[in-house]
Amino acid sequence: MTISKKMIGKLNAQVKNEFDSYWAYMAMAFSFEGMNLKGFAQWFYAQAEEEKVHAMKFAKYLMDQGADVVLEALDKPKSDYKTAKEICQAAVNHELKITKDINNLMTLARAEKDFATEAFLKWFVDEQVEEVASTTDLLNMVSMVSKPEQLLMLEGRLSRGGGE
Ligand code: MG
Repeated sequence: MTISKKMIGKLNAQVKNEFDSYWAYMAMAFSFEGMNLKGFAQWFYAQAEEEKVHAMKFAKYLMDQGADVVLEALDKPKSDYKTAKEICQAAVNHELKITKDINNLMTLARAEKDFATEAFLKWFVDEQVEEVASTTDLLNMVSMVSKPEQLLMLEGRLSRGGGE
């Protein structure tokens, strides 16, 4: 094993953070279903699937380093959203929080001169730029909506896989 015990603990915590993201986006998708906005729901289901992939990347890296993956109970996600805009804002806030998590991991990797983990994390640094950009785009689009028919137009666009 070439990575520190501290790093193993932090990377395991990030496995949980990424699965928490999966859970949070599923709750957002179900909230959109409740609002009958199925295009938005589709976008958030796809987002949730990506988070599962992220969690698995961290888990695989731990295993490649000969470390155990230890799963924790997930946080209960918020589900009592009232508006599409509220959900999109929560998604942006969530991605900013994950970006901070990744930056903290990168800071630790550099402090420990853990070059393998630093190289592994580089993908996530880039990915977070994309995640913050795509959720912010969605929030900006939803924020421009002033009439219900505009929301439905956006809805149609998202269900065809646009908006990312
Ligand atoms: Mg993620």
